[in-house]
Amino acid sequence: MIFVITITFCMFKTIVINMQPQSGNEDNTRRSFLKKTAIASVMLSTADLISLGSNHSDAKQKNPDQVPWYKSVTRWGQVNITEKDPAQYDIGWWRKFWKLTETKGVIINAGGIVAYYPTRVALHRTAEFLAGRDLFGDLCHTAHEDGLAVFARMDSNRAHEEFYKAHPGWFATDTSGKPYKAGDLYITCVNSPYYNEHIPAILREIAEFYHPEGFTDNSWSGLGRESICYCEFCKKSFRDKTGYNLPEVKNWDNQGYRQWIRWNYDRRVEIWDLNNRTTKSVGGVHCIWSGMNSGSISGQSRSFRDYKEICMRAEIIMLDDQARSDLGGFQHNGEIGKMIHGLLGWDKLVPESMAMYQAGRPTFRLASKPAPEARMWMLNGIAGGIQPWWHMVSAFHEDRRMYKTPGSVMKWHKENEQFLVNRKPVATVGVVWSQQNTDFYGRDNAEELVELPWRGMTQALIRSRIPYLPIHIDHVDRDATQFSLLILPNLAAMTENQVAGIRRFVEQGGGLIATGETSLFNEWGDKSSDYALADLFGAHFKGVGESPASKLAGEAYHTYLRLGPGLRGRPGGPGNDHELTVTDKRHEVLRGFEETGILPFGGLLQPLSLEPNAEILMTFIPQFPVYPPETAWMRTPKTDIPGLIINTTTNGSRILFLPADIDRQFARYNLPDHGNLLANLVRWAAKDKLPIAVEGAGLVDCHLYEQANRMVLHIVNLTSAATWRQPLDELIAIGPLGIKIRLSKNVRGTNLRLLVSNERISGEVKNGWCHFVVKSIPDHEVVVLT
Ligand SMILES: [Zn+2]
Repeated sequence: MIFVITITFCMFKTIVINMQPQSGNEDNTRRSFLKKTAIASVMLSTADLISLGSNHSDAKQKNPDQVPWYKSVTRWGQVNITEKDPAQYDIGWWRKFWKLTETKGVIINAGGIVAYYPTRVALHRTAEFLAGRDLFGDLCHTAHEDGLAVFARMDSNRAHEEFYKAHPGWFATDTSGKPYKAGDLYITCVNSPYYNEHIPAILREIAEFYHPEGFTDNSWSGLGRESICYCEFCKKSFRDKTGYNLPEVKNWDNQGYRQWIRWNYDRRVEIWDLNNRTTKSVGGVHCIWSGMNSGSISGQSRSFRDYKEICMRAEIIMLDDQARSDLGGFQHNGEIGKMIHGLLGWDKLVPESMAMYQAGRPTFRLASKPAPEARMWMLNGIAGGIQPWWHMVSAFHEDRRMYKTPGSVMKWHKENEQFLVNRKPVATVGVVWSQQNTDFYGRDNAEELVELPWRGMTQALIRSRIPYLPIHIDHVDRDATQFSLLILPNLAAMTENQVAGIRRFVEQGGGLIATGETSLFNEWGDKSSDYALADLFGAHFKGVGESPASKLAGEAYHTYLRLGPGLRGRPGGPGNDHELTVTDKRHEVLRGFEETGILPFGGLLQPLSLEPNAEILMTFIPQFPVYPPETAWMRTPKTDIPGLIINTTTNGSRILFLPADIDRQFARYNLPDHGNLLANLVRWAAKDKLPIAVEGAGLVDCHLYEQANRMVLHIVNLTSAATWRQPLDELIAIGPLGIKIRLSKNVRGTNLRLLVSNERISGEVKNGWCHFVVKSIPDHEVVVLT
């Protein structure tokens, strides 16, 4: 029996589709019989050759100017095939689904742990229920017939017991020679012939027989940072390349361990290069290999994937970041898009695997995610320059609701694609990051030491509608001309070159905000005697005791900050205790706090020495009891321990140093005072040089871009009952919003088009700014100004 339902997309068009794929149908059985000897016919089929498009080496040579597929395929889809699926994969149904969802490329499981085609590579085990079917071949062939690009998906890194028994030396082992395992599977070693020979053999086989446009891999980077492999290949390679023996234990203070971290990163880059050489040698220059990468920098660190090095090599980033966390919110997806494009370039694509099932906490692989939750993740990613890629696990679902989820976003994306790719972001605030800081300062506590300060700072920017761009610390010289202000949120571990780059930015008049322990550590995470940027901060570390952050992690203290009038002098310096002078009035960065003398803090601080010109705007109030209430009085109401220091250089650069970790506290507790204070600091240090202002209630994430003669503004409505707790199941519209945008050259700002509500409105242009009103935003709106 065939059920029929109607699916309505965007309320414009109604399409009829069978209710679900047909499990184990007759066609599949017949096809699997036919495919038992089918590799040769797949290889030679004319449809295959015709449909290869820009990837095929012949086609490519005839059209050398054609945009390669990895720069033109902008909507992806993936059924992550389970081992049971060969018996139930209804290709005809999915083919209609591709069309229905405007999918231009598909990711199809090919090989690795198991093969979904009749492989000839020794020990490459076929999927349990494959039963002779060439599922990968059938899907690849069908996709090519429909003009879709194919990413052959690998899942390397693990193997079954028979492989381990055949080549025990190819597997990662602990000090006693015992193999590392994940469930029933054995983890292969990245330095063994498994990566140098076995995986390349599979890549060659697939490229030769099926001509996929390219390859991706789910877990290509092998054993993570938590385990050290002591196999013979690792022992020899490490000794040859570094001169050290493998570290016996994790010890971040040990130079051998630090070298082990770097050596691991280098090896992953080698694997990236090897796999690309392999696939291109068989499939042509556009047959690239692009392993998947994470949306979390600490996740990348734990997997030894150096984002900067990878993006220098990659033609496309396959982003595996399927859903939001409560702490990061939907806005994380806009941010990670901008962060990766900052490394990769804005002319390349970053499709992201977006779960249509309940991914995250908790995960239910076969249950539909509430559609608004999945939709908002997609939309906020698109706002940050990400391309949509619907993702489902298994080709057959009893919960069919997920089939309705991606269509409307994919269709809207297709209709408006020209505004969504090949654009340049507009922002005057750069927030600086470095993976090395995550590694060697964050170490095993990067979430607390690195990610929370980052998140608090960027959340304060989003909350106050200030567009920002993540900027890699090594790209400061390259990218900084567009910025009025750079922010270093607890960027503690810095090299001398990186410090010099920041210094040059300030010398050229740029503003600077630094928080926490910024520049107090060298590149390996060793604490220095003073901040490397002490002269800019106007403050010196006194070099006594532990760094506050080592006590802060995971704690909240009952502490406060006292708001100025400002103090000048050298508080707490030897012999200088009484040299402080009080300035006249409160500084404008404390605007909005007129009715209070204190702000809640939550962290710890210690005395610093100040340069004469520096001014303290907030001082620390040490902790006192919370319970019982009778004891909750300040034992030391006043200190001269600085929480916020302001320093203006002779060339007019505005510098704010915030030893108080307000950014971390804001991420953790979401206190509006902290968010408002951070926004005040940013506006002042950037000298109010901001490209947009948005008035009206609600939490919105704004992303602004330029194209040749137009500007494009995304406004994502984050306001809901589920803003900080997934999943979202109800959209709550906001509006009206009064918006003004500083117009770029060549943009008159008189014609405005709203790409979601499908309206045209007019803007009022005054002094180079365009003013307009957006009446209502249920989920998102995109405004095009010409
Ligand atoms: Zn090894």
